[in-house]
Amino acid sequence: MISTGRLFRSLLLLSTLLVSFTQAQRDDSRFDFYARGPYREMVPRPQSLLRYDVGEFHTNYAMMERVLEKIAQAAPDRVRVIEIGETNERRTMRLVAVSSPENIRRLDEIKANIARLADPRKTSAAEAQSIIGSTPVVVWLAYTIHGNESASFEAMMQVLYQLAASNEAATQEILQNCVVLINVCENPDGHERFVSWYNANATGNPDPLAGEHREPWSVFGRYNRYRFDLNRDNIASTQTETRLMQRAYLEWNPQVFVDHHGQPAQFFFPPAAQPVNPNLPPGETAQWLTIFGRANAEQFDARNWDFYVRDVFDLFYPGYWDSWPSLNGATGMTYETDGGGYKGINYRRDDDTIITLRSGIAKHFVASMTTLDTAAKFRQARLKDYYNFKQSAIEEGRNGRMKRIILLAGRDAGNVNALVQVLLRAGIEVSVAREPFGSQSAHSYAGGERLASREFPAGSYVIDLAQPQKRLAKALLEPETVQDAAFVREQLARFARNERRGRGASKEDYGFYDITAWSLPLAFGVEAYWTEDAGNVRRDAVSLADSLNLNMGGVQGGRAQVAYIIPYDNNAAPALAYRLQREGFRIAVSTRTLSAGGRTWPRGTIVVRVSRNSERLHDAIARLSRETGAPVWSVNTGFYETGETGVGSGDVVALSLPRIIVVADEGVDHTSYGAIWWMFDQAGVEFTPMTIANLRRAALDRYNVIIIPDGSADRYFSAFGKGGIESLRGWVQRGGTLICIKGAAVFAALKDVNLTSSRLVGSEEDEQKGKDEAEARPQTPPASQAEESGSAQSANQKDKGRKGQTQNGQAGAKEEEQTEKLEGAPPELPPIASPSARPGVVPEAVPGAIMRATVDRTTYLTYGYEEQQLAVLVNSGYFFRPSKEGTNAVVFSPDERQGLRISGYVWPNTEKLLRGTAYVMDEPTGRGHVILFAEEPSFRGIWRTTTRLFFNSILFPSAM
Ligand SMILES: [Zn+2]
Repeated sequence: MISTGRLFRSLLLLSTLLVSFTQAQRDDSRFDFYARGPYREMVPRPQSLLRYDVGEFHTNYAMMERVLEKIAQAAPDRVRVIEIGETNERRTMRLVAVSSPENIRRLDEIKANIARLADPRKTSAAEAQSIIGSTPVVVWLAYTIHGNESASFEAMMQVLYQLAASNEAATQEILQNCVVLINVCENPDGHERFVSWYNANATGNPDPLAGEHREPWSVFGRYNRYRFDLNRDNIASTQTETRLMQRAYLEWNPQVFVDHHGQPAQFFFPPAAQPVNPNLPPGETAQWLTIFGRANAEQFDARNWDFYVRDVFDLFYPGYWDSWPSLNGATGMTYETDGGGYKGINYRRDDDTIITLRSGIAKHFVASMTTLDTAAKFRQARLKDYYNFKQSAIEEGRNGRMKRIILLAGRDAGNVNALVQVLLRAGIEVSVAREPFGSQSAHSYAGGERLASREFPAGSYVIDLAQPQKRLAKALLEPETVQDAAFVREQLARFARNERRGRGASKEDYGFYDITAWSLPLAFGVEAYWTEDAGNVRRDAVSLADSLNLNMGGVQGGRAQVAYIIPYDNNAAPALAYRLQREGFRIAVSTRTLSAGGRTWPRGTIVVRVSRNSERLHDAIARLSRETGAPVWSVNTGFYETGETGVGSGDVVALSLPRIIVVADEGVDHTSYGAIWWMFDQAGVEFTPMTIANLRRAALDRYNVIIIPDGSADRYFSAFGKGGIESLRGWVQRGGTLICIKGAAVFAALKDVNLTSSRLVGSEEDEQKGKDEAEARPQTPPASQAEESGSAQSANQKDKGRKGQTQNGQAGAKEEEQTEKLEGAPPELPPIASPSARPGVVPEAVPGAIMRATVDRTTYLTYGYEEQQLAVLVNSGYFFRPSKEGTNAVVFSPDERQGLRISGYVWPNTEKLLRGTAYVMDEPTGRGHVILFAEEPSFRGIWRTTTRLFFNSILFPSAM
């Protein structure tokens, strides 16, 4: 009797054969995954558990776990499964160590040996040599960081099986010389969204226009639950998955690291493109990338497989999972396969050939195994260079110009502590000064001259660069990471050529893969210095546990008689204010300088009056203060000796609970929506995600705040339609607060939308346009060409080049862009009328630079900001003319004496065009407000200078 399972398998096999006959064009549809035997029979093949052949179906997480469990059970001599934690959606993340039985038995000893190589301060060259002689190299193979790059997930199981089951001589060599750490899935939640959707909808149709090649907005499995790109998150380790992987990484200290992706048209492996982060030693980095690249090339050439190297995949931004391991001393590499992902099981390329999931898996399998073969062969040399990397890092830290970085605790100690946690999670040593200390050559991050002498208070955090993690520490903390001069010259040449191109002509792309500035003290808004000296300081090392236990919350002065004061000078305060309201307490904000409890408090201070609240308040505020980390002061008399405003004054105005909608729909930028979602979850803020169709139907008066995240202005225009726009306008006039971020602000500023009096620089209605054009002309040489100059691509043109990415040339999505460039787009929606096209002088998109903005301290939007200037991110070409009818809360100074650029790359005309434009605007409309943010206030969860601006726009408008 034949079992149904076997019958099913036979039918599958038959259909597979038929498919391979009918589509002979498919490359590698018969790649043999079992050619590197003999195999141990007791270890089950993945297919025997999955009931489908490699690449015939997508494997979900639970089935993968079953395969892993069965293989581990059958091969305990070679395989050890290590649980590293849980994702947001409660999936277990794992690292699987695979090695020879001898190595598996002494895994802890190997780990300890490698840890000694990682810290040459504790390990002499002779000891290191002895360790190198006797210790396997640690190779970390990471799969599926982008959950919808599905070939990576399937390839992992084949690599695991090969290592656990094969007795082939070369595989034995790998096992003896390497501890292979398989990170089975870096983004389990995103992958599950993708496979659940794909398996339930796909028919295996190769037609690029088939629906199965375009994930709906709510699925887009590239990102994790909070729609963060985990391959950008190593900068500030905001996400659970990043934190778990960093912790495991620093426990194992691998020497080789491969991150397996799957997006472009052909396979990519290193050498990487320029620019390479200058904190890496250029010679060694290039040498090792070339060794692994050549080995892969040999295998790919032998099989007639297409591939490319360099091109766009660079090593500059330290938040990727190739640059971050590289800065830790590993040979860090990105591999991009071609099949699978949005291409599904079958996909017809522009030359009518078919690329298959199976083919994408085969290539990853070969590249993974080749990497292991190569690592085994170069075991000693790689271990030695790893030790040398750490040793030279310490020496550079000791002898380089930048020797020490100092972070002042300042007013927002919780925020500084959050930054310290990021560093500690990355294995960077931080200490805290026990007593004041000085420097004879300090440089302020705020700019200006080198200081001949500067005292720092006790409690300052000290990061000395003479440490094994020097290169990573410097890459994350230095005010500016220097760009390669030749790379910059090339970008400027392209810029000049683009300036001369006609309006309709397509422009050359630039080589920037991501943002060019991220310095953490600047992004967090922490007062910081770097020094050329590093004298002795009495200090204590800070541990992550200490740092996590530090809580700035608590009530100073005990149970209040009259009121509680919540100082609004820290990023935790808005969360406390919101949560008190959510629990039904009445709170107010002081619109003027407040005198209370013998002190004065700046405007924006939150006042919670005892008389207006129930007895429950006393316990609740103590509890919530601890939970949010926001400090509270109690006040026992309403009388004040000086000043105009006390807790009983009319200038202390009541706030109402924000009832928030966040637009969640096609056209919305995933990561912008996700950053808001994540930030709200952290703060305990409730919101209703809503599609635009529902928003058009909803009884909007139940809500008082609507947030439209960054997204496509054109898509918003067509989705809201005239009716939707008018109902938004009516709702604002009745008292609602509409918050529009970046692309949504572009939408609000469209002539036909007109929710604001601001206009985009270069738009048709931009009155300044003619003036700017006239000024811009002399820059472009021949007069005949100048006639046509000045037109960068419109926002809309660039939108089409992106899946789910909508910015005007925003960096950070090149992997997606790449698809379009090389392969023809996965089907986009049909072109629509483009009201946001900009024919005038259009600013070229800035590839993520940190700019100096000026704060208007007379508006509620800047409550909590007492500094005149603010470091903000500019990551697009969306520059907004100031509002004529409202308040421009944060602007770029028109004063030419003030430099705007703080850090990062800008174009020759960026500052000129940015001057006098507004970054945050409030336009009172009827009884409500339209608030515009030119950029994302919480970009990737990294930016903290703008956190309160965003919360202010939610908490306060209803009272103003
Ligand atoms: Zn990817």
